[in-house]
Amino acid sequence: MVNILAINAGSSSLKFQLLQMPEEHVVSKGLIERIGLKEPIFSMTTNGNKLELTDIEKISNHTEAVQLLLHHLVEQKAVNSLHDIDGIGHRLVHGGEQYSDSVLIDEQAIEAFEKLSDLAPLHNPANITGIKEFHKALPHVPAVAVFDTAFHQTMPESSFLYSIPYDYYKKYGIRKYGFHGTSHKYVTGRAADLLNRPVDKIRLISCHLGNGASIAAIDGGRSIDTSMGFTPLAGVTMGTRSGNLDPALIPFLMEKTDKSAEEVLDILNKKSGMLGVSGFSSDLRDIEVEALKGNSRAQLALDVFASRIHKYIGSYAARMNGVDAIIFTAGIGENSDVIRAKVLAGLQFMGVYMDPDLNKIRGKEAFISYPHSPVKVIVIPTNEEVMIARDTVRLANIKH
Ligand code: ADP
Repeated sequence: MVNILAINAGSSSLKFQLLQMPEEHVVSKGLIERIGLKEPIFSMTTNGNKLELTDIEKISNHTEAVQLLLHHLVEQKAVNSLHDIDGIGHRLVHGGEQYSDSVLIDEQAIEAFEKLSDLAPLHNPANITGIKEFHKALPHVPAVAVFDTAFHQTMPESSFLYSIPYDYYKKYGIRKYGFHGTSHKYVTGRAADLLNRPVDKIRLISCHLGNGASIAAIDGGRSIDTSMGFTPLAGVTMGTRSGNLDPALIPFLMEKTDKSAEEVLDILNKKSGMLGVSGFSSDLRDIEVEALKGNSRAQLALDVFASRIHKYIGSYAARMNGVDAIIFTAGIGENSDVIRAKVLAGLQFMGVYMDPDLNKIRGKEAFISYPHSPVKVIVIPTNEEVMIARDTVRLANIKH
Protein backbone atom coordinates (compact mmCIF):
# COMPACT_ATOMS: atom_id res chain seq x y z
CA MET A 1 0.00 0.00 0.00
CA VAL A 2 1.32 3.48 -0.90
CA ASN A 3 0.10 7.04 -0.26
CA ILE A 4 -0.28 9.39 -3.19
CA LEU A 5 -1.11 13.07 -2.93
CA ALA A 6 -3.17 14.40 -5.87
CA ILE A 7 -2.81 18.17 -6.21
CA ASN A 8 -4.71 20.79 -8.18
CA ALA A 9 -3.07 24.17 -7.57
CA GLY A 10 -4.93 27.28 -8.74
CA SER A 11 -3.86 30.90 -8.49
CA SER A 12 -5.49 31.37 -5.08
CA SER A 13 -6.50 27.82 -4.17
CA LEU A 14 -5.05 24.39 -3.54
CA LYS A 15 -7.24 21.32 -3.87
CA PHE A 16 -5.90 18.00 -2.63
CA GLN A 17 -6.65 14.35 -2.02
CA LEU A 18 -4.52 11.75 -0.31
CA LEU A 19 -5.22 8.32 -1.79
CA GLN A 20 -4.06 4.89 -0.72
CA MET A 21 -3.09 2.89 -3.78
CA PRO A 22 -3.72 0.45 -5.34
CA GLU A 23 -6.99 0.36 -3.34
CA GLU A 24 -7.86 3.88 -4.58
CA HIS A 25 -9.11 4.64 -1.09
CA VAL A 26 -9.45 8.36 -0.27
CA VAL A 27 -7.89 8.93 3.17
CA SER A 28 -8.11 12.70 3.18
CA LYS A 29 -9.35 15.43 0.91
CA GLY A 30 -9.80 19.16 1.09
CA LEU A 31 -9.27 22.62 -0.15
CA ILE A 32 -7.34 25.75 0.75
CA GLU A 33 -9.07 28.84 -0.60
CA ARG A 34 -8.23 32.54 -0.80
CA ILE A 35 -4.44 32.12 -0.70
CA GLY A 36 -2.87 35.60 -0.61
CA LEU A 37 -6.26 37.19 0.13
CA LYS A 38 -8.20 38.19 3.23
CA GLU A 39 -10.03 35.53 5.25
CA PRO A 40 -8.50 32.35 3.82
CA ILE A 41 -10.33 29.06 4.39
CA PHE A 42 -8.78 25.66 4.99
CA SER A 43 -11.04 22.64 5.03
CA MET A 44 -10.23 18.96 5.02
CA THR A 45 -11.94 15.67 5.80
CA THR A 46 -9.74 12.82 6.99
CA ASN A 47 -11.16 9.37 7.57
CA GLY A 48 -14.59 10.98 7.96
CA ASN A 49 -13.44 13.70 10.40
CA LYS A 50 -14.02 17.22 9.21
CA LEU A 51 -11.68 20.10 9.99
CA GLU A 52 -12.50 23.64 8.95
CA LEU A 53 -10.29 26.59 9.79
CA THR A 54 -11.73 30.01 9.00
CA ASP A 55 -9.79 32.01 11.60
CA ILE A 56 -6.36 31.84 9.97
CA GLU A 57 -5.13 35.40 9.65
CA LYS A 58 -3.36 35.02 6.36
CA ILE A 59 -1.97 32.39 4.03
CA SER A 60 0.41 34.70 2.22
CA ASN A 61 1.44 32.42 -0.64
CA HIS A 62 1.59 28.85 -1.92
CA THR A 63 4.69 28.12 0.22
CA GLU A 64 2.60 28.71 3.35
CA ALA A 65 -0.37 26.83 1.92
CA VAL A 66 1.77 23.73 1.27
CA GLN A 67 3.26 23.90 4.78
CA LEU A 68 -0.21 24.21 6.29
CA LEU A 69 -1.52 21.24 4.32
CA LEU A 70 1.45 19.01 5.18
CA HIS A 71 1.21 19.96 8.86
CA HIS A 72 -2.47 19.04 9.01
CA LEU A 73 -2.04 15.78 7.06
CA VAL A 74 0.18 14.59 9.93
CA GLU A 75 -1.85 16.24 12.67
CA GLN A 76 -5.10 14.71 11.41
CA LYS A 77 -3.30 11.35 11.14
CA ALA A 78 -3.85 10.99 7.39
CA VAL A 79 -0.20 9.85 7.47
CA ASN A 80 2.05 9.05 10.44
CA SER A 81 4.80 11.26 9.09
CA LEU A 82 5.64 13.04 5.84
CA HIS A 83 7.93 10.09 5.01
CA ASP A 84 4.75 8.12 4.35
CA ILE A 85 3.93 10.20 1.26
CA ASP A 86 5.22 8.09 -1.63
CA GLY A 87 4.34 10.23 -4.63
CA ILE A 88 2.70 13.47 -5.69
CA GLY A 89 0.57 13.89 -8.80
CA HIS A 90 -0.06 17.40 -10.10
CA ARG A 91 -2.79 18.49 -12.44
CA LEU A 92 -1.38 20.66 -15.20
CA VAL A 93 -3.90 22.29 -17.52
CA HIS A 94 -1.83 22.54 -20.70
CA GLY A 95 0.62 20.02 -22.08
CA GLY A 96 0.64 21.42 -25.63
CA GLU A 97 1.53 19.00 -28.41
CA GLN A 98 4.47 17.77 -26.39
CA TYR A 99 2.58 15.59 -23.93
CA SER A 100 0.15 12.89 -24.97
CA ASP A 101 0.61 11.15 -21.61
CA SER A 102 1.46 12.14 -18.04
CA VAL A 103 5.14 12.60 -17.26
CA LEU A 104 7.58 12.20 -14.38
CA ILE A 105 8.69 15.69 -13.31
CA ASP A 106 12.35 16.72 -13.35
CA GLU A 107 14.04 20.08 -13.93
CA GLN A 108 13.87 19.75 -17.70
CA ALA A 109 10.17 18.98 -17.52
CA ILE A 110 9.56 22.12 -15.44
CA GLU A 111 11.39 24.20 -18.06
CA ALA A 112 9.20 22.64 -20.75
CA PHE A 113 6.04 23.39 -18.71
CA GLU A 114 7.11 27.01 -18.34
CA LYS A 115 7.43 27.36 -22.10
CA LEU A 116 3.85 26.10 -22.41
CA SER A 117 2.53 28.82 -20.08
CA ASP A 118 2.13 31.04 -23.12
CA LEU A 119 -0.71 28.73 -24.21
CA ALA A 120 -2.49 28.73 -20.84
CA PRO A 121 -1.53 31.95 -19.05
CA LEU A 122 -4.55 31.76 -16.73
CA HIS A 123 -3.79 28.26 -15.44
CA ASN A 124 -0.33 26.81 -16.06
CA PRO A 125 1.70 29.30 -13.95
CA ALA A 126 -0.32 28.46 -10.81
CA ASN A 127 -0.04 24.72 -11.50
CA ILE A 128 3.75 25.12 -11.87
CA THR A 129 3.97 27.09 -8.62
CA GLY A 130 2.30 24.13 -6.91
CA ILE A 131 4.84 21.72 -8.42
CA LYS A 132 7.78 23.86 -7.27
CA GLU A 133 6.45 24.38 -3.75
CA PHE A 134 5.84 20.69 -3.14
CA HIS A 135 9.30 19.94 -4.52
CA LYS A 136 10.79 22.41 -2.04
CA ALA A 137 8.86 20.88 0.86
CA LEU A 138 9.33 17.21 -0.12
CA PRO A 139 12.37 17.12 -2.44
CA HIS A 140 12.79 13.34 -2.36
CA VAL A 141 9.22 12.43 -3.22
CA PRO A 142 8.70 11.67 -6.94
CA ALA A 143 6.19 13.89 -8.69
CA VAL A 144 4.18 13.39 -11.87
CA ALA A 145 2.31 15.91 -14.05
CA VAL A 146 -1.08 14.93 -15.46
CA PHE A 147 -2.35 17.15 -18.30
CA ASP A 148 -5.90 18.17 -19.14
CA THR A 149 -4.95 18.19 -22.81
CA ALA A 150 -3.12 14.84 -23.10
CA PHE A 151 -6.12 12.58 -23.80
CA HIS A 152 -7.13 14.73 -26.79
CA GLN A 153 -3.75 14.46 -28.50
CA THR A 154 -5.18 11.56 -30.54
CA MET A 155 -7.46 13.97 -32.44
CA PRO A 156 -6.83 13.91 -36.19
CA GLU A 157 -5.66 17.09 -37.90
CA SER A 158 -9.08 17.49 -39.52
CA SER A 159 -10.55 17.89 -36.01
CA PHE A 160 -7.90 20.01 -34.35
CA LEU A 161 -7.07 22.43 -37.14
CA TYR A 162 -8.84 25.80 -37.40
CA SER A 163 -9.71 26.93 -40.91
CA ILE A 164 -7.26 29.83 -40.87
CA PRO A 165 -3.90 30.14 -42.65
CA TYR A 166 -2.01 26.91 -41.95
CA ASP A 167 1.18 28.84 -41.10
CA TYR A 168 -0.37 30.06 -37.86
CA TYR A 169 -0.62 26.50 -36.65
CA LYS A 170 3.05 25.85 -37.45
CA LYS A 171 4.30 29.23 -36.20
CA TYR A 172 2.23 29.79 -33.08
CA GLY A 173 0.73 26.42 -32.20
CA ILE A 174 -2.78 27.70 -32.93
CA ARG A 175 -5.01 24.62 -32.97
CA LYS A 176 -7.66 22.94 -30.90
CA TYR A 177 -6.13 21.28 -27.83
CA GLY A 178 -9.20 20.37 -25.79
CA PHE A 179 -9.41 20.12 -22.00
CA HIS A 180 -11.02 17.97 -19.25
CA GLY A 181 -9.05 15.09 -20.81
CA THR A 182 -8.43 13.38 -17.48
CA SER A 183 -12.16 13.30 -16.80
CA HIS A 184 -13.12 12.15 -20.30
CA LYS A 185 -10.52 9.38 -20.03
CA TYR A 186 -11.75 8.24 -16.63
CA VAL A 187 -15.41 7.96 -17.72
CA THR A 188 -14.32 6.20 -20.92
CA GLY A 189 -12.76 3.43 -18.85
CA ARG A 190 -15.77 3.18 -16.57
CA ALA A 191 -18.19 3.11 -19.52
CA ALA A 192 -16.33 0.19 -21.08
CA ASP A 193 -16.55 -1.67 -17.75
CA LEU A 194 -20.26 -0.90 -17.33
CA LEU A 195 -21.07 -1.85 -20.93
CA ASN A 196 -18.91 -4.94 -20.49
CA ARG A 197 -17.27 -4.36 -23.84
CA PRO A 198 -13.63 -3.78 -24.86
CA VAL A 199 -12.92 -0.05 -24.99
CA ASP A 200 -11.45 -0.26 -28.51
CA LYS A 201 -14.81 -1.52 -29.81
CA ILE A 202 -17.07 1.28 -28.57
CA ARG A 203 -18.02 4.77 -29.70
CA LEU A 204 -18.77 7.18 -26.86
CA ILE A 205 -19.89 10.76 -26.49
CA SER A 206 -18.81 12.10 -23.12
CA CYS A 207 -20.51 15.21 -21.71
CA HIS A 208 -18.47 16.75 -18.89
CA LEU A 209 -20.86 19.39 -17.55
CA GLY A 210 -19.56 21.36 -14.59
CA ASN A 211 -18.88 25.09 -14.26
CA GLY A 212 -16.69 24.46 -17.27
CA ALA A 213 -18.24 22.08 -19.79
CA SER A 214 -16.93 20.08 -22.72
CA ILE A 215 -18.13 17.30 -24.97
CA ALA A 216 -15.81 14.66 -26.45
CA ALA A 217 -16.20 12.12 -29.25
CA ILE A 218 -14.30 9.00 -28.22
CA ASP A 219 -13.91 6.30 -30.84
CA GLY A 220 -12.30 3.05 -29.72
CA GLY A 221 -11.01 4.65 -26.51
CA ARG A 222 -9.35 7.54 -28.37
CA SER A 223 -10.55 11.13 -28.35
CA ILE A 224 -11.22 12.13 -31.97
CA ASP A 225 -12.90 15.47 -31.35
CA THR A 226 -13.84 17.74 -28.48
CA SER A 227 -15.73 20.98 -28.01
CA MET A 228 -13.15 23.09 -26.17
CA GLY A 229 -10.48 24.59 -28.36
CA PHE A 230 -7.25 26.56 -28.18
CA THR A 231 -8.52 27.62 -24.75
CA PRO A 232 -11.34 26.37 -22.47
CA LEU A 233 -13.53 29.26 -23.66
CA ALA A 234 -14.73 27.41 -26.76
CA GLY A 235 -17.52 24.89 -27.29
CA VAL A 236 -20.81 24.73 -25.42
CA THR A 237 -22.34 27.43 -23.22
CA MET A 238 -20.93 27.17 -19.66
CA GLY A 239 -21.55 28.70 -16.23
CA THR A 240 -19.82 32.00 -17.05
CA ARG A 241 -18.12 31.27 -20.40
CA SER A 242 -19.77 32.03 -23.72
CA GLY A 243 -18.64 28.95 -25.63
CA ASN A 244 -18.54 29.31 -29.43
CA LEU A 245 -19.52 32.56 -31.05
CA ASP A 246 -18.84 34.50 -34.21
CA PRO A 247 -15.28 35.90 -33.80
CA ALA A 248 -16.34 39.10 -35.57
CA LEU A 249 -18.32 39.90 -32.42
CA ILE A 250 -15.14 40.74 -30.55
CA PRO A 251 -14.07 43.87 -32.46
CA PHE A 252 -17.75 44.86 -32.75
CA LEU A 253 -18.18 44.68 -28.97
CA MET A 254 -14.89 46.49 -28.39
CA GLU A 255 -16.12 49.39 -30.45
CA LYS A 256 -19.66 49.50 -29.05
CA THR A 257 -18.61 49.26 -25.39
CA ASP A 258 -15.29 51.08 -25.69
CA LYS A 259 -13.46 48.16 -24.10
CA SER A 260 -10.07 46.59 -24.82
CA ALA A 261 -9.72 43.09 -26.29
CA GLU A 262 -8.68 41.89 -22.85
CA GLU A 263 -11.79 43.38 -21.23
CA VAL A 264 -14.08 41.83 -23.83
CA LEU A 265 -12.36 38.50 -23.34
CA ASP A 266 -12.91 38.86 -19.61
CA ILE A 267 -16.65 39.36 -20.26
CA LEU A 268 -16.72 36.25 -22.47
CA ASN A 269 -14.93 34.24 -19.77
CA LYS A 270 -16.55 35.53 -16.59
CA LYS A 271 -19.84 37.27 -17.33
CA SER A 272 -21.30 35.22 -20.15
CA GLY A 273 -22.69 31.69 -20.41
CA MET A 274 -25.67 30.88 -18.20
CA LEU A 275 -24.81 33.88 -16.00
CA GLY A 276 -25.00 36.20 -18.99
CA VAL A 277 -28.24 34.75 -20.32
CA SER A 278 -30.05 34.40 -16.99
CA GLY A 279 -28.74 37.71 -15.68
CA PHE A 280 -28.47 36.46 -12.09
CA SER A 281 -26.40 33.28 -11.60
CA SER A 282 -23.92 30.89 -13.18
CA ASP A 283 -24.92 28.13 -10.78
CA LEU A 284 -27.29 25.63 -12.33
CA ARG A 285 -29.03 24.92 -9.01
CA ASP A 286 -30.07 28.59 -8.69
CA ILE A 287 -31.19 28.68 -12.31
CA GLU A 288 -33.29 25.52 -11.94
CA VAL A 289 -35.04 26.95 -8.86
CA GLU A 290 -35.89 30.23 -10.63
CA ALA A 291 -36.94 28.44 -13.84
CA LEU A 292 -39.43 26.40 -11.80
CA LYS A 293 -40.89 29.62 -10.43
CA GLY A 294 -41.52 30.77 -14.01
CA ASN A 295 -38.53 33.10 -14.52
CA SER A 296 -38.30 33.19 -18.32
CA ARG A 297 -34.63 34.23 -18.46
CA ALA A 298 -33.74 31.28 -16.22
CA GLN A 299 -35.72 28.97 -18.53
CA LEU A 300 -33.91 30.47 -21.50
CA ALA A 301 -30.50 29.86 -19.88
CA LEU A 302 -31.40 26.17 -19.42
CA ASP A 303 -32.58 25.91 -23.02
CA VAL A 304 -29.52 27.63 -24.47
CA PHE A 305 -27.19 25.40 -22.44
CA ALA A 306 -29.02 22.16 -23.28
CA SER A 307 -29.45 22.95 -26.98
CA ARG A 308 -25.72 23.45 -27.49
CA ILE A 309 -24.94 20.08 -25.93
CA HIS A 310 -27.74 18.43 -27.92
CA LYS A 311 -26.23 19.70 -31.17
CA TYR A 312 -22.75 18.47 -30.28
CA ILE A 313 -24.16 15.01 -29.64
CA GLY A 314 -25.73 14.98 -33.10
CA SER A 315 -22.57 16.13 -34.81
CA TYR A 316 -20.30 13.74 -32.91
CA ALA A 317 -22.59 10.81 -33.69
CA ALA A 318 -22.23 11.82 -37.35
CA ARG A 319 -18.44 12.01 -36.96
CA MET A 320 -18.31 8.40 -35.68
CA ASN A 321 -21.07 6.96 -37.90
CA GLY A 322 -23.13 6.30 -34.78
CA VAL A 323 -22.64 6.10 -31.04
CA ASP A 324 -22.94 3.24 -28.52
CA ALA A 325 -23.27 5.28 -25.34
CA ILE A 326 -23.65 8.86 -24.17
CA ILE A 327 -22.05 9.68 -20.81
CA PHE A 328 -23.02 12.47 -18.40
CA THR A 329 -20.48 13.53 -15.79
CA ALA A 330 -19.33 16.41 -13.49
CA GLY A 331 -21.56 18.54 -11.21
CA ILE A 332 -24.40 19.13 -13.67
CA GLY A 333 -24.08 15.91 -15.67
CA GLU A 334 -24.12 13.81 -12.51
CA ASN A 335 -26.95 15.65 -10.79
CA SER A 336 -29.31 17.49 -13.10
CA ASP A 337 -32.15 15.36 -14.43
CA VAL A 338 -33.58 18.55 -15.91
CA ILE A 339 -30.57 19.21 -18.15
CA ARG A 340 -30.15 15.53 -19.08
CA ALA A 341 -33.79 15.32 -20.15
CA LYS A 342 -33.57 18.53 -22.21
CA VAL A 343 -30.31 17.43 -23.87
CA LEU A 344 -31.67 14.00 -24.80
CA ALA A 345 -35.14 15.10 -25.96
CA GLY A 346 -35.48 14.55 -29.70
CA LEU A 347 -32.60 12.13 -30.10
CA GLN A 348 -34.90 9.13 -30.57
CA PHE A 349 -34.20 9.40 -34.32
CA MET A 350 -30.69 8.11 -33.61
CA GLY A 351 -31.71 5.46 -31.10
CA VAL A 352 -31.53 7.32 -27.77
CA TYR A 353 -34.41 6.40 -25.44
CA MET A 354 -34.11 7.84 -21.93
CA ASP A 355 -36.19 6.42 -19.08
CA PRO A 356 -37.55 9.39 -17.07
CA ASP A 357 -37.68 7.30 -13.87
CA LEU A 358 -34.07 6.14 -14.15
CA ASN A 359 -33.10 9.73 -14.99
CA LYS A 360 -33.96 10.77 -11.42
CA ILE A 361 -30.63 9.35 -10.23
CA ARG A 362 -28.10 11.80 -8.72
CA GLY A 363 -24.39 11.39 -8.21
CA LYS A 364 -24.23 7.63 -8.80
CA GLU A 365 -23.16 5.37 -11.64
CA ALA A 366 -26.32 4.29 -13.44
CA PHE A 367 -27.84 3.59 -16.83
CA ILE A 368 -30.66 6.05 -17.48
CA SER A 369 -31.72 4.66 -20.88
CA TYR A 370 -34.39 1.97 -21.29
CA PRO A 371 -32.88 -1.52 -21.54
CA HIS A 372 -34.02 -1.74 -25.18
CA SER A 373 -32.46 1.61 -26.12
CA PRO A 374 -29.91 0.97 -28.92
CA VAL A 375 -27.80 3.84 -27.58
CA LYS A 376 -27.13 3.59 -23.85
CA VAL A 377 -27.06 6.66 -21.64
CA ILE A 378 -24.91 6.43 -18.52
CA VAL A 379 -24.36 8.75 -15.56
CA ILE A 380 -20.79 8.33 -14.29
CA PRO A 381 -19.39 10.49 -11.48
CA THR A 382 -15.96 11.60 -12.64
CA ASN A 383 -12.81 11.03 -10.63
CA GLU A 384 -9.84 13.01 -11.87
CA GLU A 385 -7.91 12.44 -8.62
CA VAL A 386 -7.91 8.68 -9.08
CA MET A 387 -6.50 9.14 -12.58
CA ILE A 388 -3.79 11.42 -11.19
CA ALA A 389 -2.93 8.88 -8.49
CA ARG A 390 -2.87 5.96 -10.97
CA ASP A 391 -0.55 7.85 -13.34
CA THR A 392 1.71 8.87 -10.45
CA VAL A 393 2.14 5.24 -9.38
CA ARG A 394 2.70 4.13 -13.00
CA LEU A 395 5.15 6.83 -14.11
CA ALA A 396 7.11 7.15 -10.87
CA ASN A 397 7.22 3.35 -10.84
CA ILE A 398 6.15 3.22 -7.20
CA LYS A 399 5.97 -0.33 -5.84
CA HIS A 400 3.13 -1.26 -3.51
P1 ADP B 1 -16.23 22.58 -11.59
O1 ADP B 1 -16.13 22.75 -13.07
O2 ADP B 1 -16.02 23.85 -10.82
O3 ADP B 1 -15.47 21.39 -11.04
P2 ADP B 1 -18.58 21.04 -10.83
O4 ADP B 1 -18.28 19.80 -11.58
O5 ADP B 1 -18.49 21.02 -9.35
O6 ADP B 1 -17.77 22.29 -11.39
O7 ADP B 1 -20.07 21.51 -11.25
C1 ADP B 1 -20.64 22.66 -10.76
C2 ADP B 1 -22.03 22.80 -11.35
O8 ADP B 1 -22.80 21.64 -10.99
C3 ADP B 1 -22.80 24.02 -10.85
O9 ADP B 1 -23.49 24.64 -11.92
C4 ADP B 1 -23.80 23.40 -9.88
O10 ADP B 1 -24.98 24.15 -9.80
C5 ADP B 1 -24.07 22.06 -10.54
N1 ADP B 1 -24.65 21.12 -9.56
C6 ADP B 1 -24.06 20.57 -8.49
N2 ADP B 1 -24.94 19.82 -7.78
C7 ADP B 1 -26.13 19.90 -8.43
C8 ADP B 1 -27.44 19.39 -8.20
N3 ADP B 1 -27.69 18.60 -7.18
N4 ADP B 1 -28.40 19.70 -9.11
C9 ADP B 1 -28.15 20.49 -10.17
N5 ADP B 1 -26.94 21.02 -10.43
C10 ADP B 1 -25.95 20.74 -9.57
